[in-house]
Amino acid sequence: MKAINDLDRHITPIVKMIEEAVSRVIASGWYILGPEVIAFEQEFSSYMGSTYCVTVGNGTDALELALRALGINHKSTVLTVANAGMYSTSAILATGAIPIYADVRPDTSLIDVVDVTRLVTEVKIDAIIITHLYGMMADIEQLINITRDKNIPVIEDCAQAHGAIINERKAGSFGDIGCFSFYPTKNLGALGDGGAIITNHSDLGGRVRQLRQYGWDSKYHATIAGGRNSRLDEIQAAILRVKLTFLDNWNNRRREIATRYSHNINHPKIITQAIQGKNYVAHLYVIKTTERDNLRQHLAKEGIPSDIHYPIPDYLQPCYTHLFPKVYKPVTEQHCGEVLTLPCFPEMNDTEVDLIINHINSW
Ligand SMILES: *Cc1c(COP(=O)(O)O)cnc(C)c1O
Repeated sequence: MKAINDLDRHITPIVKMIEEAVSRVIASGWYILGPEVIAFEQEFSSYMGSTYCVTVGNGTDALELALRALGINHKSTVLTVANAGMYSTSAILATGAIPIYADVRPDTSLIDVVDVTRLVTEVKIDAIIITHLYGMMADIEQLINITRDKNIPVIEDCAQAHGAIINERKAGSFGDIGCFSFYPTKNLGALGDGGAIITNHSDLGGRVRQLRQYGWDSKYHATIAGGRNSRLDEIQAAILRVKLTFLDNWNNRRREIATRYSHNINHPKIITQAIQGKNYVAHLYVIKTTERDNLRQHLAKEGIPSDIHYPIPDYLQPCYTHLFPKVYKPVTEQHCGEVLTLPCFPEMNDTEVDLIINHINSW
């Protein structure tokens, strides 16, 4: 196996459809904000059950423009978690706001409702970014109740949770704005960078639509400050339209693989992910062990790739330690030292999964 996520094998079965879509765009002569982007925005919002979709250049821009649309600026504080790859922190810092970190739950590595409840009473919070990590949905309904009481707007980071569902509602449709990345390895990925926001609020959707293009309300006429150039291109939109039709099948297969791992990995030094329903789209299959380096070496010897998502809490990143001298989130730090990601992508077959399981159990 080449990687924890083998994109060759993911694209090969649909390469003809992708080539057709790309050729169609090339022949059209329209490459930015044209009919493919409009069609994809309609198809994606309808898949998500939301009223508006606005595509942007990538997932981090989606978060940043969502924050800006909510009025977040250098006077604001934004609550988030520190156990992903600097995504929400980068977006928050780009607006000039200060990130405040909540710890994560010991069992799921998702944002801890108890810590959020404490923080929203103790600290001024102007917005919250809730990250649905590894394809698992956070306790979104509880979190919405807590934040609604305090009038705190909610951004859901769904970059790892395209298509996850709780009570018939998709990840991204609970908060004020849902943010998505279409980075190639995501559950729905382009063949390049891409991102989007979804929302049911026409004012927020309209603001992101302006912010992604210099703040223009019409050509060369800017009415919102803080605008950027952050657009999805026509070729990527056309590719995403093809791939969206496969998303549910891919998610089902990912869930099967994750379930197979969780059922069959059986080792006293390893904690597996709990088996879940449709609230989980198995973006990453992550186990925990206190002897991670040793297990990684054991797997590497057998040619099994693994990765760490994520090794360093955002507030301990070398370039920003001066910003967060007093932050300490014990569960976040413990998990950064113990998590290990195993290969999980829809094209893996059961034999491959079983081989990995056997090598893990024999460690
Ligand atoms: C990938 C990812 C992002 C950022 O997306 P980019 O398109 O790479 O900018 C944001 N949040 C999470 C949770 C992600 O996994």
